[in-house]
Amino acid sequence: MINLRVKSQYIDEYKDGYPLITKESVVDWDKAIREGMIINLLDDKNKFIARGYYGIQNKGYGWVLSFKKDEKIDLDYFIRKIKDAIKYREDFFYDDTTTAFRVFNGEGDGIGGLTIDYFDGYYLITWYSIGIYELKADILRALKNCVTYKGIYQKKRFEGKGKYLDDADDFVCGTHANVPLIVKENGVNFAIYLDDGPMVGVFLDQRDVRKTIRDKYTKDKTVLNTFSYTGAFSVFAVLGGSVKTTSVDLASRSRSKTEEQFTINEIDLKAQDIIVEDVFNYFKYALRKNLLFDLVVLDPPSFARSKKHTFSVAKDYVKLLKEAIQITNKGGVIVASTNYANFGMMTFKDFISKAFRELQGKYRIEETFSLPKDFRVTDKFREGDYLKVVFITKV
Ligand code: SAH
Repeated sequence: MINLRVKSQYIDEYKDGYPLITKESVVDWDKAIREGMIINLLDDKNKFIARGYYGIQNKGYGWVLSFKKDEKIDLDYFIRKIKDAIKYREDFFYDDTTTAFRVFNGEGDGIGGLTIDYFDGYYLITWYSIGIYELKADILRALKNCVTYKGIYQKKRFEGKGKYLDDADDFVCGTHANVPLIVKENGVNFAIYLDDGPMVGVFLDQRDVRKTIRDKYTKDKTVLNTFSYTGAFSVFAVLGGSVKTTSVDLASRSRSKTEEQFTINEIDLKAQDIIVEDVFNYFKYALRKNLLFDLVVLDPPSFARSKKHTFSVAKDYVKLLKEAIQITNKGGVIVASTNYANFGMMTFKDFISKAFRELQGKYRIEETFSLPKDFRVTDKFREGDYLKVVFITKV
């Protein structure tokens, strides 16, 4: 354990429950500190404020684990945290129509840098730093203690993971999952790959948005799904009665991945378009051809670099919206989404207002979404509540 003094101007923030241990908040980072070490944060009178671990992420240098002086960070600690997280999501475990959800959501469940997802009896642990990975033995034992599982997988989302050759693939223990593993979300099938690169095939945080698109917005509509990845929004659109979907993504594997998601839901591929292209080129093409859609989904990554464009949500979302507005039918809906953590819903709504103003267009906001229940967040760390989705009618 290592004691670290907090700079005076940050003391109140930590005392109030702020969970991220930032580089600049500590007086003097002890040279002996190593990833995974337990840290005590002390105030200017050397009194205990909080206990956490050292683990370097782009967000900070570690996370607070407890504000109780006597609480040890041991197997029992992790069992308590995981049990609490499971209890909070009890209803998900009993729902047969949805078999993929988040079980543990980082600092929202009390341990930053760690997430655990559930896929039909399989658990996927994601480690966001070497530091949290150093605590793997206890965390894994705690998880095994709390759940019955078919198998456990992991993703290492940190630099230098090559050093950990002990487990080169993503399988940890139990039985191997089918490839792909078919899970359900509100009755819809998804093909999941637990051991095929950094992403498994679906972003679980958009569950409520997909359901809303299916249940309320797509009957008899034409749909354009941009940045479509594996086509999850398109699948829900078809099942909601859409007359046709067009899915656009730059990655060439998006074609086979999207075809697969359609196929496992018994959707006729011939009636759907899948286009492998830069969306900004597609917008130009659509404008030239006077194509118009009833529903346009915009769900870009926060940053992306293609051959011609560098896209950043903070700089370019207004432009993206303007492109979309121009190919949306009057009375049609744009689903504008972003997972960029460094601005909030207010700023995002300002982007929307700016885009329509610059085109001298009118709009109406129908509804907004943030993270679903299983992506638990804490009001002590607002950046954790990253998802913003707005349904906008072009009037
Ligand atoms: N909307 C998707 C997730 C998007 S992930 C879903 O709900 O599942 C981001 C995707 O954007 C990736 O698949 C990436 O290949 C794609 N992408 C990034 N830049 C792009 C560009 N300029 N044009 C088209 N697709 C792009």
